[in-house]
Amino acid sequence: MTEEQFPQALSIAGSDSGGGAGMQADLKTIQSRHVFAATVLVAITAQNTLGVQQSLALPTAMIDAQFASLAADLQIRACKTGMLADVATVKAVVNNLKRYDFGPLTVDPVMIAKGGAPLLTEDAIAVVRDELLPLATLVTPNLPEAEKLSGLTITDQAAMRTAAKRLQALGAQNVIVKGGHLTHADSANDYVLLADGSDFWLPARRVDTVRTHGTGDTLSACITAELAKGRSLPSAIRTGKAYVEKAITDGILVGHGHGPLNHWA
Ligand code: PLP
Repeated sequence: MTEEQFPQALSIAGSDSGGGAGMQADLKTIQSRHVFAATVLVAITAQNTLGVQQSLALPTAMIDAQFASLAADLQIRACKTGMLADVATVKAVVNNLKRYDFGPLTVDPVMIAKGGAPLLTEDAIAVVRDELLPLATLVTPNLPEAEKLSGLTITDQAAMRTAAKRLQALGAQNVIVKGGHLTHADSANDYVLLADGSDFWLPARRVDTVRTHGTGDTLSACITAELAKGRSLPSAIRTGKAYVEKAITDGILVGHGHGPLNHWA
Protein backbone atom coordinates (compact mmCIF):
# COMPACT_ATOMS: atom_id res chain seq x y z
CA MET A 1 0.00 0.00 0.00
CA THR A 2 1.36 3.43 -0.87
CA GLU A 3 1.17 6.20 1.68
CA GLU A 4 -1.31 8.98 0.86
CA GLN A 5 0.31 12.26 -0.15
CA PHE A 6 -0.32 15.49 1.81
CA PRO A 7 -2.59 17.95 -0.12
CA GLN A 8 -0.49 20.04 -2.52
CA ALA A 9 -1.46 23.24 -4.37
CA LEU A 10 0.43 25.23 -6.98
CA SER A 11 0.73 29.00 -7.39
CA ILE A 12 1.80 30.20 -10.84
CA ALA A 13 2.51 33.87 -10.20
CA GLY A 14 4.83 36.84 -9.88
CA SER A 15 6.85 37.76 -6.82
CA ASP A 16 6.00 40.85 -4.72
CA SER A 17 9.17 41.74 -2.82
CA GLY A 18 7.00 43.68 -0.36
CA GLY A 19 5.48 40.38 0.72
CA GLY A 20 1.84 41.43 0.62
CA ALA A 21 0.58 40.29 -2.78
CA GLY A 22 1.51 37.94 -5.61
CA MET A 23 3.26 34.68 -4.90
CA GLN A 24 4.03 35.70 -1.33
CA ALA A 25 0.33 36.21 -0.55
CA ASP A 26 -0.40 32.85 -2.17
CA LEU A 27 2.21 31.07 -0.06
CA LYS A 28 1.01 32.65 3.19
CA THR A 29 -2.61 31.86 2.40
CA ILE A 30 -2.10 28.26 1.26
CA GLN A 31 0.15 27.58 4.24
CA SER A 32 -2.43 28.90 6.67
CA ARG A 33 -5.06 26.57 5.14
CA HIS A 34 -2.78 23.59 5.99
CA VAL A 35 -2.00 22.76 2.38
CA PHE A 36 1.51 22.36 0.96
CA ALA A 37 2.34 25.14 -1.53
CA ALA A 38 4.49 24.66 -4.63
CA THR A 39 5.34 27.53 -6.97
CA VAL A 40 6.08 28.36 -10.59
CA LEU A 41 7.58 31.86 -10.51
CA VAL A 42 6.96 33.69 -13.80
CA ALA A 43 7.96 37.28 -12.98
CA ILE A 44 9.70 39.35 -10.32
CA THR A 45 8.60 42.76 -9.11
CA ALA A 46 10.58 45.23 -7.03
CA GLN A 47 7.66 46.43 -4.95
CA ASN A 48 6.57 47.76 -1.56
CA THR A 49 3.29 48.99 -0.09
CA LEU A 50 3.75 52.28 -1.97
CA GLY A 51 3.87 50.73 -5.44
CA VAL A 52 5.72 48.69 -8.04
CA GLN A 53 9.17 50.14 -8.81
CA GLN A 54 10.38 47.54 -11.36
CA SER A 55 9.15 44.38 -12.99
CA LEU A 56 10.82 41.56 -14.94
CA ALA A 57 9.30 38.54 -16.71
CA LEU A 58 11.38 35.36 -16.45
CA PRO A 59 12.55 33.47 -19.56
CA THR A 60 9.88 31.01 -20.74
CA ALA A 61 12.43 28.15 -20.74
CA MET A 62 12.71 28.66 -16.97
CA ILE A 63 8.91 28.55 -16.66
CA ASP A 64 8.85 25.27 -18.63
CA ALA A 65 11.61 23.85 -16.42
CA GLN A 66 9.70 24.63 -13.20
CA PHE A 67 6.54 22.95 -14.51
CA ALA A 68 8.54 19.89 -15.59
CA SER A 69 10.22 19.60 -12.18
CA LEU A 70 6.90 19.65 -10.36
CA ALA A 71 5.21 17.25 -12.76
CA ALA A 72 8.06 14.76 -12.29
CA ASP A 73 7.62 14.54 -8.54
CA LEU A 74 4.76 16.31 -6.76
CA GLN A 75 1.06 15.44 -6.73
CA ILE A 76 -0.51 18.85 -7.30
CA ARG A 77 -4.27 18.70 -6.65
CA ALA A 78 -5.23 22.29 -7.57
CA CYS A 79 -3.51 25.29 -9.11
CA LYS A 80 -3.96 29.01 -9.70
CA THR A 81 -2.52 31.73 -11.85
CA GLY A 82 -1.79 35.30 -10.73
CA MET A 83 0.40 37.93 -12.42
CA LEU A 84 1.33 36.67 -15.92
CA ALA A 85 3.26 39.70 -17.20
CA ASP A 86 3.11 39.44 -20.99
CA VAL A 87 2.09 37.44 -24.08
CA ALA A 88 5.08 35.06 -24.02
CA THR A 89 4.50 34.26 -20.35
CA VAL A 90 0.76 33.63 -20.76
CA LYS A 91 1.43 31.35 -23.74
CA ALA A 92 4.11 29.41 -21.85
CA VAL A 93 1.76 28.91 -18.88
CA VAL A 94 -1.10 27.83 -21.18
CA ASN A 95 1.12 25.27 -22.92
CA ASN A 96 2.26 23.79 -19.63
CA LEU A 97 -1.26 23.65 -18.19
CA LYS A 98 -2.30 21.70 -21.30
CA ARG A 99 0.66 19.35 -20.92
CA TYR A 100 0.26 18.49 -17.21
CA ASP A 101 -2.76 17.75 -15.03
CA PHE A 102 -2.48 19.86 -11.89
CA GLY A 103 -6.17 19.64 -10.96
CA PRO A 104 -8.77 22.40 -11.06
CA LEU A 105 -7.36 25.73 -12.27
CA THR A 106 -8.36 29.06 -10.72
CA VAL A 107 -7.45 32.01 -12.94
CA ASP A 108 -7.05 35.33 -11.13
CA PRO A 109 -6.77 37.58 -14.21
CA VAL A 110 -4.42 40.09 -12.58
CA MET A 111 -4.00 43.20 -14.75
CA ILE A 112 -3.18 46.36 -12.79
CA ALA A 113 -1.89 46.81 -9.23
CA LYS A 114 -3.82 49.13 -6.90
CA GLY A 115 -1.16 51.81 -7.37
CA GLY A 116 -1.72 51.72 -11.15
CA ALA A 117 1.27 49.65 -12.27
CA PRO A 118 0.48 47.25 -15.12
CA LEU A 119 1.09 43.58 -14.22
CA LEU A 120 -0.13 42.32 -17.63
CA THR A 121 0.59 44.00 -20.95
CA GLU A 122 -2.44 45.23 -22.90
CA ASP A 123 -1.82 42.79 -25.79
CA ALA A 124 -1.74 39.84 -23.38
CA ILE A 125 -5.34 40.43 -22.25
CA ALA A 126 -6.69 38.83 -25.45
CA VAL A 127 -4.42 35.81 -24.93
CA VAL A 128 -5.71 35.35 -21.38
CA ARG A 129 -9.28 35.64 -22.71
CA ASP A 130 -8.86 33.33 -25.70
CA GLU A 131 -6.33 30.76 -24.47
CA LEU A 132 -6.31 30.70 -20.65
CA LEU A 133 -10.02 31.18 -19.82
CA PRO A 134 -11.04 27.99 -21.68
CA LEU A 135 -8.78 26.04 -19.28
CA ALA A 136 -10.21 27.66 -16.15
CA THR A 137 -12.33 25.79 -13.64
CA LEU A 138 -12.88 29.20 -12.04
CA VAL A 139 -12.07 32.78 -13.01
CA THR A 140 -12.07 35.52 -10.35
CA PRO A 141 -12.00 38.99 -11.97
CA ASN A 142 -12.61 42.26 -10.17
CA LEU A 143 -14.83 44.73 -12.04
CA PRO A 144 -12.12 46.39 -14.20
CA GLU A 145 -10.77 42.94 -15.15
CA ALA A 146 -14.28 41.63 -15.90
CA GLU A 147 -14.84 44.67 -18.12
CA LYS A 148 -11.61 44.08 -20.07
CA LEU A 149 -12.33 40.37 -20.55
CA SER A 150 -16.05 40.69 -21.36
CA GLY A 151 -15.94 43.95 -23.29
CA LEU A 152 -18.87 45.21 -21.17
CA THR A 153 -19.18 48.29 -18.98
CA ILE A 154 -20.20 47.25 -15.48
CA THR A 155 -21.89 49.83 -13.27
CA ASP A 156 -24.43 47.76 -11.33
CA GLN A 157 -25.24 44.27 -10.14
CA ALA A 158 -27.30 43.41 -13.25
CA ALA A 159 -24.23 44.08 -15.38
CA MET A 160 -22.12 41.90 -13.09
CA ARG A 161 -24.45 38.98 -13.92
CA THR A 162 -24.27 39.66 -17.66
CA ALA A 163 -20.48 39.84 -17.53
CA ALA A 164 -20.28 36.53 -15.65
CA LYS A 165 -22.38 34.86 -18.35
CA ARG A 166 -20.12 36.31 -21.02
CA LEU A 167 -17.01 34.94 -19.26
CA GLN A 168 -18.66 31.53 -19.04
CA ALA A 169 -19.37 31.69 -22.78
CA LEU A 170 -15.65 32.41 -23.28
CA GLY A 171 -14.86 29.07 -21.65
CA ALA A 172 -14.42 29.56 -17.89
CA GLN A 173 -16.58 26.90 -16.20
CA ASN A 174 -17.34 28.92 -13.06
CA VAL A 175 -17.09 32.66 -12.48
CA ILE A 176 -16.83 35.03 -9.52
CA VAL A 177 -17.23 38.71 -10.39
CA LYS A 178 -15.92 40.61 -7.38
CA GLY A 179 -17.96 43.66 -6.42
CA GLY A 180 -15.33 45.49 -4.36
CA HIS A 181 -14.89 48.17 -7.05
CA LEU A 182 -18.60 49.18 -7.19
CA THR A 183 -17.76 52.42 -5.41
CA HIS A 184 -21.30 53.74 -4.97
CA ALA A 185 -22.38 50.59 -3.12
CA ASP A 186 -21.75 50.28 0.63
CA SER A 187 -21.35 46.54 0.28
CA ALA A 188 -18.72 44.48 -1.56
CA ASN A 189 -21.00 41.67 -2.74
CA ASP A 190 -19.53 39.18 -5.18
CA TYR A 191 -21.57 37.42 -7.84
CA VAL A 192 -20.96 33.69 -8.34
CA LEU A 193 -22.09 31.85 -11.47
CA LEU A 194 -21.52 28.08 -11.39
CA ALA A 195 -21.01 25.62 -14.24
CA ASP A 196 -24.53 24.18 -13.90
CA GLY A 197 -26.07 27.64 -14.39
CA SER A 198 -26.96 28.12 -10.72
CA ASP A 199 -25.82 31.35 -9.10
CA PHE A 200 -25.65 33.19 -5.81
CA TRP A 201 -24.44 36.44 -4.27
CA LEU A 202 -21.77 36.40 -1.61
CA PRO A 203 -22.71 39.20 0.77
CA ALA A 204 -19.85 41.11 2.34
CA ARG A 205 -19.39 44.27 4.34
CA ARG A 206 -17.22 46.97 2.76
CA VAL A 207 -14.26 47.36 5.13
CA ASP A 208 -12.92 50.92 5.28
CA THR A 209 -9.14 50.41 5.21
CA VAL A 210 -6.07 50.91 3.03
CA ARG A 211 -4.71 47.51 4.13
CA THR A 212 -6.06 45.64 1.11
CA HIS A 213 -2.86 44.83 -0.78
CA GLY A 214 -3.16 41.33 -2.20
CA THR A 215 -6.85 40.70 -1.57
CA GLY A 216 -7.44 39.15 -5.00
CA ASP A 217 -4.40 36.88 -4.71
CA THR A 218 -5.49 35.81 -1.24
CA LEU A 219 -9.04 34.95 -2.32
CA SER A 220 -7.93 32.82 -5.27
CA ALA A 221 -5.15 31.17 -3.24
CA CYS A 222 -7.54 30.23 -0.44
CA ILE A 223 -10.01 28.75 -2.93
CA THR A 224 -7.15 26.80 -4.56
CA ALA A 225 -6.02 25.44 -1.19
CA GLU A 226 -9.54 24.30 -0.36
CA LEU A 227 -9.91 22.62 -3.77
CA ALA A 228 -6.59 20.82 -3.18
CA LYS A 229 -8.15 19.36 -0.02
CA GLY A 230 -11.04 18.08 -2.12
CA ARG A 231 -13.66 20.60 -0.97
CA SER A 232 -16.52 21.43 -3.35
CA LEU A 233 -16.23 24.65 -5.32
CA PRO A 234 -19.13 26.48 -3.55
CA SER A 235 -17.64 25.54 -0.18
CA ALA A 236 -14.13 26.64 -1.28
CA ILE A 237 -15.52 29.97 -2.51
CA ARG A 238 -17.34 30.66 0.78
CA THR A 239 -14.22 29.78 2.78
CA GLY A 240 -12.16 32.09 0.53
CA LYS A 241 -14.52 35.01 1.00
CA ALA A 242 -14.62 34.57 4.79
CA TYR A 243 -10.80 34.26 4.93
CA VAL A 244 -10.28 37.51 2.99
CA GLU A 245 -12.85 39.43 5.01
CA LYS A 246 -11.19 38.45 8.29
CA ALA A 247 -7.69 39.09 6.92
CA ILE A 248 -8.74 42.61 5.84
CA THR A 249 -10.69 43.44 8.99
CA ASP A 250 -7.81 42.46 11.30
CA GLY A 251 -5.18 44.26 9.15
CA ILE A 252 -1.61 44.67 10.39
CA LEU A 253 0.54 47.80 10.01
CA VAL A 254 3.41 47.11 7.58
CA GLY A 255 4.84 49.86 5.36
CA HIS A 256 3.43 53.31 4.58
CA GLY A 257 0.98 52.64 1.75
CA HIS A 258 -1.49 49.92 0.81
CA GLY A 259 -0.62 47.48 3.55
CA PRO A 260 -0.88 43.71 3.50
CA LEU A 261 -3.55 41.42 4.93
CA ASN A 262 -3.31 39.51 8.20
CA HIS A 263 -2.82 35.81 7.51
CA TRP A 264 -2.97 34.94 11.20
CA ALA A 265 -6.48 36.41 11.56
N1 PLP B 1 2.03 42.41 -7.33
C1 PLP B 1 1.86 41.17 -7.76
C2 PLP B 1 3.06 40.37 -8.10
C3 PLP B 1 0.56 40.67 -7.86
O1 PLP B 1 0.37 39.43 -8.34
C4 PLP B 1 -0.55 41.48 -7.53
C5 PLP B 1 -1.91 41.01 -7.62
O2 PLP B 1 -2.21 39.96 -8.08
C6 PLP B 1 -0.31 42.77 -7.10
C7 PLP B 1 0.98 43.19 -7.00
C8 PLP B 1 -1.42 43.71 -6.83
O3 PLP B 1 -1.94 43.66 -5.60
P1 PLP B 1 -3.00 44.75 -5.17
O4 PLP B 1 -3.68 45.25 -6.41
O5 PLP B 1 -3.92 43.98 -4.29
O6 PLP B 1 -2.27 45.83 -4.45
